Amino acid sequence: MLRVALDAPLRRLFDYLPPVGVALESCRTGLRVEVPFGRQTRIGLIVEIGQGSNLPSARLKAAATVLDTEPPLDAMTFELVRWAADYYHHPVGEALATALPSALRAGRPLNVRETRWQWRTAGTEALAGRPRLGPRQKALAAALNAAASIGDTELEVLGSGTREALKGFATRGWIESFEYEPPALAPPAATVAQGPKLTAAQAEALTAIGATLGTFAPFLLHGVTGSGKTEVYLRSIEAVLARGEQALVLVPEIALTPQAVQRFSSRYSVPLAVLHSGLTDGERLQMWRAARSGAAPIVIGTRSAVFVPLARPGIVIVDEEHDASYKQQEGFRYSARDLAVLRAQRHGIPVVLGSATPSLETLQQAESGRYVRLRLPERAGAAGAPRTAMVDLRIHEERHGIATPSMLAMQRHLAAGGQVLLYLNRRGYAPTLFCPACSWAAPCGECDARMTVHLKRHRLICHHCGAQAPVPFACPTCGAEVRPVGQGTERVEDALDEFFPGVPVVRIDRDTIQSRGEIEAALERVHSGEARILVGTQMLTKGHDFPDVTLVVVLNADQGLFGSDFRASERLAQSIVQVAGRAGRATRPGEVLVQTACPEHPLLTRLMTEGYDGYARAALAERAEARWPPFSRLALLRADAPVREHALEFLEAARKLAEGPASGSVRLLGPAAAAMERRAGRYRAQLLLESTSRGALQQFLAPWLDAISALQSARRVRWSIDVDPLEVG
Ligand code: ADP
Ligand code: ZN
Ligand code: ZN
Repeated sequence: MLRVALDAPLRRLFDYLPPVGVALESCRTGLRVEVPFGRQTRIGLIVEIGQGSNLPSARLKAAATVLDTEPPLDAMTFELVRWAADYYHHPVGEALATALPSALRAGRPLNVRETRWQWRTAGTEALAGRPRLGPRQKALAAALNAAASIGDTELEVLGSGTREALKGFATRGWIESFEYEPPALAPPAATVAQGPKLTAAQAEALTAIGATLGTFAPFLLHGVTGSGKTEVYLRSIEAVLARGEQALVLVPEIALTPQAVQRFSSRYSVPLAVLHSGLTDGERLQMWRAARSGAAPIVIGTRSAVFVPLARPGIVIVDEEHDASYKQQEGFRYSARDLAVLRAQRHGIPVVLGSATPSLETLQQAESGRYVRLRLPERAGAAGAPRTAMVDLRIHEERHGIATPSMLAMQRHLAAGGQVLLYLNRRGYAPTLFCPACSWAAPCGECDARMTVHLKRHRLICHHCGAQAPVPFACPTCGAEVRPVGQGTERVEDALDEFFPGVPVVRIDRDTIQSRGEIEAALERVHSGEARILVGTQMLTKGHDFPDVTLVVVLNADQGLFGSDFRASERLAQSIVQVAGRAGRATRPGEVLVQTACPEHPLLTRLMTEGYDGYARAALAERAEARWPPFSRLALLRADAPVREHALEFLEAARKLAEGPASGSVRLLGPAAAAMERRAGRYRAQLLLESTSRGALQQFLAPWLDAISALQSARRVRWSIDVDPLEVG
């Protein structure tokens, strides 16, 4: 019996008999099979092979074909995906689908394959009778005589008409085709370009990592922005390549630009496999194969690359490990960062988590001694740390979001030839369209949220559900004049035109940047020096280097100060420190201004005086006190429904199921409405589970989720479980 995982939202495997004429013994776990499913056929993976089935034998169907002779995922990766499906309580079929390139899920061959042609006896006999042949046919016959077989390359050389001749020979039964898999070539030896002379701290980090090659060792590479973390990655990889092994480098989605890849490719003369969401299915398969065969010694990819099989894994690097994009927020809600550590452990290789602003989870691992902490406390090269100050929005006048002291600083830096970066994590023109007469504020009809004004497009757009409406000329309730209130990046860009006429501005946010090409073009305008002022959102803070930026202004630090999520302050601290790190990276000293209406807020004062370390120490103490992660483990049961009561009733029922002796050390919090209860017309609520023991939480979850699935009230809602959720607001 083959137990097959299919890409379906069902928490179970499907039983099939082996294909007709195929012995059960010749099937192996991990192989792809094509199976009948309803009226369709589907491609799945054999997860188990067993005797007997719960299905009555009359209803058992046979699989159609086994597609592979070897498993696409090596045993280690296969087990990692299965483990993750268990841990995140997600259907294993969907989890495996995440790990396989879609071209393989569609049935493309695992390895590069070529169709080749050779004579059949009928053909050579016919030829001996000297039949009359046209010129194309003669050329083809000669080519077939000259080599044992011919394939696409040879046919290409012979010219386009030869395909016709080939078809003719085939229909006459003269030739036959076969599938040929060229053997994987050994990867070329790496030649390595010279890097800079390492600083003492870099050298120390490199030595520590280098000493662990071939064994499991988790590192936190904690280095301020510009301290040369990437240089440490590059040198560690060099050592890995010298051992004939591969490096897997994970990066946040929008940090993976050609510019970033360039840093790796200019250092090593080896093929790089680059995996990101912008690839076509064919390209992705090609990269994946290069990683799997070992042809690409360096594999760089975003989140899902953590599942890419490697022929000879040697090191895993997770750059910007604090980045939220490592956690998938829907469907299979895995953390690529956490799985990277597990994967390294199973392979017995080192893993390096790098960041200037490590997550509190990772910092705590270092505190407790489970991870080795490597510090790069100073910037590499000549750059000094930037000067940082707050601008009190309560006492300084502001125009379009820019306060007077910031304006003066901008003038100063621009006059001195520096570039200026304005950070505002809010796109659009203004977050609110407001009526001063009756206090109407353009709401989204589908969400508990306001519509954002996008003036250039003349639209109101909801950033939560995407709903759009024209911008009204007057208040729809009282007819008075309405006006945009608050700032978005579009408005700041407009204001800059007025304040600094003729000074080129580049805006980087999701409205101006929709493709990889666009971000490259924008970055090029910055690097060439053409653009003098940069305005942007979060997108700007992701690992891009702006060597000529000397002034960074955080326009509104207060956005994250009072968030409902327990991680709101961590995120705010990280983005302020990350954006500040863009200032003065080359030889010019940098200056950072943080505009706030709450300059006494302990988070901000601590960040200003003690930096991220000071913030993190205090935040960890608070988390310990409140028993939040990393001092406890969370799982979040979310539900939404068109009717408010349905979501809450379901969660109440789920809570009832949870109460009792089985819940043991698992605490239940809620159910409660989500911070933004209605989104896209659905009411959202959640039930939080907390435990100090990961094991206890896991043990509790499996049977509980089974019981929940059977609840009557589950049918009226959409629900999901999120283990180690990043957002609980
Ligand atoms: P991080 O990844 O920590 O932000 P990078 O590796 O990008 O830092 O380094 C920042 C800048 O410093 C880069 O321009 C890099 O080329 C340079 N750099 C790194 N290490 C050294 C070194 N040892 N000597 C001189 N320059 C260095
Ligand atoms: Zn009004
Ligand atoms: Zn909406």
